[in-house]
Amino acid sequence: MPTMKVARLYDSTDIRFEDDPIPTVGPGEALVKTRTCGICSGDVMGWYMKKKAPLVFGHEPAGEIVEIGEGVEDFQAGDRVFVHHHAPCFSCRACQRGEFVQCPTWRATKIVPGGMAEYFVVPKDNLSGDTLRLPEKMSFADGSLVEPTACAVKSLRRSGFQAGDSVFVIGLGIMGQLHVALAKHAGARTIIGTDFVPYRCTKARELGADLALNPYEVKDGNVEDALREYTQGEMAEVVIVGPGSIEAMQLGLRCAAKGGTVVLFTASKPDDTLTLSPNDLYFNEVRLIPSYSCGPNDTREALRLVQDGVITTEKFITHRFPFEQLHAAYRNAAEARDSLKTIIEFA
Ligand SMILES: [Zn+2]
Ligand SMILES: [Zn+2]
Repeated sequence: MPTMKVARLYDSTDIRFEDDPIPTVGPGEALVKTRTCGICSGDVMGWYMKKKAPLVFGHEPAGEIVEIGEGVEDFQAGDRVFVHHHAPCFSCRACQRGEFVQCPTWRATKIVPGGMAEYFVVPKDNLSGDTLRLPEKMSFADGSLVEPTACAVKSLRRSGFQAGDSVFVIGLGIMGQLHVALAKHAGARTIIGTDFVPYRCTKARELGADLALNPYEVKDGNVEDALREYTQGEMAEVVIVGPGSIEAMQLGLRCAAKGGTVVLFTASKPDDTLTLSPNDLYFNEVRLIPSYSCGPNDTREALRLVQDGVITTEKFITHRFPFEQLHAAYRNAAEARDSLKTIIEFA
């Protein structure tokens, strides 16, 4: 039986290269030779990965179809594709409402065994539901930007963002920077970001933020006051809370303008609780909106944004590692310092 190298995560400090059989292709499925796979902020979130481990992680792959199963008509061997690791059924009640992430099929689907493998199988639902051919001018690395971009597309849409809004982005890693770039592209009036890492603050300015507040540099470390001063008391109409920490969520709530929206972009730990004032929320009419992952509508829009050059590898992919150096790549992403997106390139 032919084998392939996979990277199986047992714990965020224990990732092992293992030899697995190359998966076989069933009816309606496709086998993809992996060419790139991004490391997601979620992949380096210890508690989140621990509950899934052991697993072949990686859900931001792009590659080339090398074999198709019986009955596949829309794809053929040689197609260069972005593959979403989850795809909905398009017919259940959640799908009818456009809440694709709440579709039971979306939750149950996954590429096999995962993106950090030399090959993976695209199940039938994923192939028909959310596999997109890469336009000729898009590279595989471009393809790896589709899923993270789609998550930011969804988040900004759910926030109710409108051109002319002021936007405050907490956390300027890759996901925060994508929000900055998309808000800029969509006509934000003012974009302010905050992060502890100077490199990330500088990057945000380059990508269109008017101001990037480093808590170490503002008066008394008080980002809220600095934002208040900059916005002349208005605060931000859309607040994106990148980190899954309660502290970041509370900062987000304090920084929302009246009638504004706070987006919770990352899960907190399961046992965390958030204390908030319903009275403030009510009279200020602040919306608290979670945004988890993305659906097929978002990946299509993301692909267009990458194709149109709004989101580019030059701006967002700061590190590329060969598959053999996955451990170094993972450390680089987990360290969250002078980097944005880290991707793996397969031979
Ligand atoms: Zn991701
Ligand atoms: Zn469904």
